Amino acid sequence: MDFSGKVALVTGSTRGIGKAIAVAFAERGATVVVTGRDRGTAEIIANNIRNEFEVEAYGFGLDLSGDIESVWKEIKQAVGTVDILVNNAGITKDNLFIRMKDEEWQQVIDVNLTGTYKITKLVVKDMIKKRYGRIINISSIIGFIGNIGQVNYATTKAGLIGFTKSLAKEVASRNITVNAVAPGFIETEMTEVLPAEIKESYLKQIPLGRFGKPQDVANVVLFLASDLSSYITGETIHVNGGMY
Ligand code: NAD
Repeated sequence: MDFSGKVALVTGSTRGIGKAIAVAFAERGATVVVTGRDRGTAEIIANNIRNEFEVEAYGFGLDLSGDIESVWKEIKQAVGTVDILVNNAGITKDNLFIRMKDEEWQQVIDVNLTGTYKITKLVVKDMIKKRYGRIINISSIIGFIGNIGQVNYATTKAGLIGFTKSLAKEVASRNITVNAVAPGFIETEMTEVLPAEIKESYLKQIPLGRFGKPQDVANVVLFLASDLSSYITGETIHVNGGMY
């Protein structure tokens, strides 16, 4: 797979799955836009990518619950238009439903859903003009099976599926595909914090007998961004070792 000449923007790409996705695109020649809440960290990651893979890479502080529009203007000045948008940034604020605070509900909606809506709206305008685009939304197995303590998170991850399917229909005539990836249990800082007994109980439910790695998700994102998947849109690919 060769992504030379393509610009890929990955939200939340300073660590975990997002970073693996940004690196995977850089390895294959794409110009990458690394974004995260902290600009300094994003710039460091972009710098490392530039040195290691000899591609163009830029780092921006794009907080999805903040002022997205002004950062988008800066990104456009740096790279022009974006060909591949990966909506990866996502947060959890777990609590049992009856104890869930309004802020815990709202913050998760703001980042995972409203943030995705806002950045996609800005990016897709140029894709429509260019008549080319690949949008990949990172959902979660939890949006399909639900989970105790994650009513807020599951709502957003299921919501992203409706977002994916509807937007796919709206922009298909402009040669833009919109798909989702639903990871299962992937080893990152997000899952590192879970108690050992919870991890053990998840492992028992995974037929392939191991947790996923960020690279397992990145591989599917590469496929959905490539010409190999040009007849697939509105679809969700599950990456969960057979858990669901
Ligand atoms: P992570 O916590 O390691 O990384 C999350 C990234 O999102 C970070 O780069 C962080 O800076 C960024 N982020 C957080 N809040 C943000 C905000 N307000 N604005 C912009 N960026 C923000 O998580 P991860 O495990 O790498 O998860 C990446 C995505 O994959 C998330 O959407 C997550 O829901 C999803 N996912 C993860 C798993 C898993 O097991 N790790 C499973 C299913 C889905």
